[in-house]
Amino acid sequence: MEWLIVPIVWIACAWIASSLLEKRGQSGTLGCMLGWFLGPLGIIIALLVPFNTSTLEQRQIESGKLRPCPFCAEPIRTEANVCKHCGRDVPPATTRRPADDDTLRDVIVDTIVGWQENRERRKKARERRKKS
Ligand SMILES: [Zn+2]
Repeated sequence: MEWLIVPIVWIACAWIASSLLEKRGQSGTLGCMLGWFLGPLGIIIALLVPFNTSTLEQRQIESGKLRPCPFCAEPIRTEANVCKHCGRDVPPATTRRPADDDTLRDVIVDTIVGWQENRERRKKARERRKKS
């Protein structure tokens, strides 16, 4: 039974690295290969990959969480009445946001990403305090 541990760990690494890259708007296939060939090191590399914000915004527009502002075309929340970019009043959205269908994988990755974002926010706050 012990021989099963290595492939299970490697499959888990491929799955986690794939999820991390997909959440960053990058290729999930590349993440899967990173995790599969490099194991835990692939996860570390996936954590260092920068966010592709334009792909992430496009995905959120497609899922109905965001919509483009009719005046400045920047992405805003579907429920928004005022654009956060140009400050103009926007008409209410005509389509309803789909129900949340988060999978366990989404929850796990959101937790990791959220933890990382909080860490970066604390780091920036610390740097700001040092400057003043
Ligand atoms: Zn706008």
